[in-house]
Amino acid sequence: MSIKPKCDKCNKELEEFGGILLSPPDNDRRVIKYHLCINCYKKVEELLISRQKLETKK
Ligand SMILES: [Zn+2]
Repeated sequence: MSIKPKCDKCNKELEEFGGILLSPPDNDRRVIKYHLCINCYKKVEELLISRQKLETKK
């Protein structure tokens, strides 16, 4: 694999292996694969986790 994927959030080339985000399949069962660098993955993860924390506080 010589092609370096780019982060789909910040457009930087991935120097290290980052995260992958998969979309739900569409009507043709195609799935969109997004690459995330480590920094952007952490931001996305924070969004997911902070929502969870808010919900469990109730
Ligand atoms: Zn990024």
